[in-house]
Amino acid sequence: MKCDLYAKRPLIIAGPCSAETQEQTLETCKALAATGRVDILRAGVWKPRTKPGGFEGMGLLALPWMAEARHLTGLPIAVEVANAKHAQSALEFGVDMLWIGARTTVNPFSVQEIADAVKDSGISVLIKNPMNPDIELWSGAVARFRNAGIDDRHLGLIHRGFSYFGHTQYRNTPMWHVVLEMRSRFPELAMICDPSHICGRRDNLLEVAQRAADMSFDGVMIESHVSPDTALSDASQQVLPEDFDRIISAIRWRNESTNNPEFFESLNKHRDSIDQIDSELFELLSRRMNIAEKIGRIKHDNDVAILQGERWSSIVEKSLALASKLCLSEDFMRTILEAIHIESINRQNEVMNRQ
Ligand code: PEP
Ligand code: MN
Repeated sequence: MKCDLYAKRPLIIAGPCSAETQEQTLETCKALAATGRVDILRAGVWKPRTKPGGFEGMGLLALPWMAEARHLTGLPIAVEVANAKHAQSALEFGVDMLWIGARTTVNPFSVQEIADAVKDSGISVLIKNPMNPDIELWSGAVARFRNAGIDDRHLGLIHRGFSYFGHTQYRNTPMWHVVLEMRSRFPELAMICDPSHICGRRDNLLEVAQRAADMSFDGVMIESHVSPDTALSDASQQVLPEDFDRIISAIRWRNESTNNPEFFESLNKHRDSIDQIDSELFELLSRRMNIAEKIGRIKHDNDVAILQGERWSSIVEKSLALASKLCLSEDFMRTILEAIHIESINRQNEVMNRQ
């Protein structure tokens, strides 16, 4: 079965993290299909684990279970592949869609051998973002599958968040801006959000799925299991099929546009204001940089170093003191200040070394 990624909006993919037993796979898939909200069934058959000792999937044994789930429900099936052998086996079992896991997208050798294995097969492929926020790696994987003849109706992307060192409320932090950049590079490719791997827990799946819907994503992939607490992988993020049903029905998918003329009128008014403010902002920044250059010249003439830590700390301190009054988050202010500081140092550096 060819699985056209544009056949339906939103596209809903669901299934257990792993196919563990025939019974668990079939019971989960049947219950999900019965909700009437699933377009494609998923299950991990080969599980790439970060550390040894975890459940590594049932492998070939599990492929017939997924094929049976497909037969019983009439729904297309998807599995994760990490090498050419996996891809060949999946093709032999009539799997409709493959996805490339985050730990595989990072490896061009693996991606290339999978692309070679599925060349001209007509199978659909979804590419998860790599573990790290590297747009080039993700784009490279797209190019490899396109070169192997997978057309854009059968090629898509999955946003599953990025690994992050440090404390965050997410298992994999979403970094929505990275994904928006990927979307603008590949507007023709479907972008599916995987809230399960972003959240790593159940209670905020809807919140993340809603955010994706608000940002015009094309669908979601959610992990569901008939007995989530006893799941052999990703137990804390899997939900019962009935909870999956509740989550999906609660998501509000926004319209791409509307015919209401008032909408355009007020939107355009605000957009004009934003354009005006943006141009003023950059005008001000340009003036600020020109002053930084003047300071650079003075430092040059007096043979003084560019970086003066105390002065910078006092600028940051003074600006952050205004954060709550201006209703701006400290995080945002720090990001802007850092960008200004880098540009300012670069400009002074140029002046210092020009003469
Ligand atoms: C999965 O989908 O079960 C999986 C292992 O995902 P990821 O590659 O996003 O970690
Ligand atoms: Mn999983």
